[in-house]
Amino acid sequence: MSKDVLIFVECKDAVPRKASLELLSAGRQIAEKFSSVLFAVVMGSDMKNAAGIVSGYTDKTIVVDDGSLAEYGWDLMSSVLEGILTKYSPAIVLGTSSMTGKDLFPRLAARFQAAMVSDAVGVDLEGDGLKIKKPLYGGKVISWVAPGPEAMLIATFRPNSFAVNEPGRNGEIIEEKMNVSKDPGITVVSSTKAGSKKVDLQEADFIICGGRGMKAAENFSLLEDIADLMGGRVGASRTVVDSKWRDYDDQIGKSGKTVSPKLYIGCGVSGALHHIMGMDTSKVIVAINKDPNAPIFQYADYGIVDDAFAVLPALKEELKKVREDS
Ligand SMILES: Cc1cc2nc3c(=O)[nH]c(=O)nc-3n(C[C@H](O)[C@H](O)[C@H](O)COP(=O)(O)OP(=O)(O)OC[C@H]3O[C@@H](n4cnc5c(N)ncnc54)[C@H](O)[C@@H]3O)c2cc1C
Repeated sequence: MSKDVLIFVECKDAVPRKASLELLSAGRQIAEKFSSVLFAVVMGSDMKNAAGIVSGYTDKTIVVDDGSLAEYGWDLMSSVLEGILTKYSPAIVLGTSSMTGKDLFPRLAARFQAAMVSDAVGVDLEGDGLKIKKPLYGGKVISWVAPGPEAMLIATFRPNSFAVNEPGRNGEIIEEKMNVSKDPGITVVSSTKAGSKKVDLQEADFIICGGRGMKAAENFSLLEDIADLMGGRVGASRTVVDSKWRDYDDQIGKSGKTVSPKLYIGCGVSGALHHIMGMDTSKVIVAINKDPNAPIFQYADYGIVDDAFAVLPALKEELKKVREDS
């Protein structure tokens, strides 16, 4: 059985997301190990430019360019992807563990009776097969999953799980006309774009996250200033979102987004397991909390036991000095 690999490429404004370039880089290594073909699927409206970028990584880039795919719709995109998986029969399908990935891939796994591994953070290509690294219980347990030889494998990975390699290829671009079928039971009446934040939360290298200890919505401007100085993003705990201090778009955790930045700073976040599950694979974790027994210190690489309102203004001033000097 061939072990062809297919990457579902997510785009923003018709440009491939960094998380998808990471998967293309990892997919290349997997395809090389199994001497198989690396496919990618790019779908949306006006995707020529995106397909050109992606073909730098792949053997074959399948493009489905259709105006009705301009906005994400699970019914439209899953019907197109189903057609592509049926036609090209890849053994390994990789996607991002984004909101789109969480919505799309379990449906496809059910349709193809595929083995599904979600929210993974790495692969091991040593030895005979492919092993997938998946954290469990808020990172307290790391499991390695080896898919069986027969079923199709569908795996989604957290952004920042792999490095992005140089493209260096000129793969074939295949234009496919797929049947784009809508779920007749659902009509999208209207959609409004949420305010466009500078950096996508899941792709940010730096996140400063506020919890209930930030006390009020207006205090998040301090976190915004620090995020701007660092070129990163502000995140929030669910308590903060439930209190309407921040939008749901900022929520990190089990019922929010899964993030893996190079640096996460939690300010007045207690470290409840539901929150930890969304950020435990951050490369460096810093916690600022005035309670020395706050659970977040069990996960932190560096802990500051102090009032966030004493630490954060000092941090902001130091960062400003560094930026002015550089
Ligand atoms: C099904 C389910 C799903 C959930 N999903 C999520 C999720 O996706 N994301 C999420 O975050 N939570 C989620 N939760 C909620 C989660 O269990 C916690 O209730 C929540 O994470 C707590 O938020 P917090 O840390 O901001 O608040 P708290 O737990 O109230 O912690 C506030 C912290 O701030 C500290 N503090 C107070 N003042 C200061 C100060 N001046 N300086 C420094 N520190 C200070 C306190 O010592 C305390 O540790 C979920 C819960 C359930 C049941």
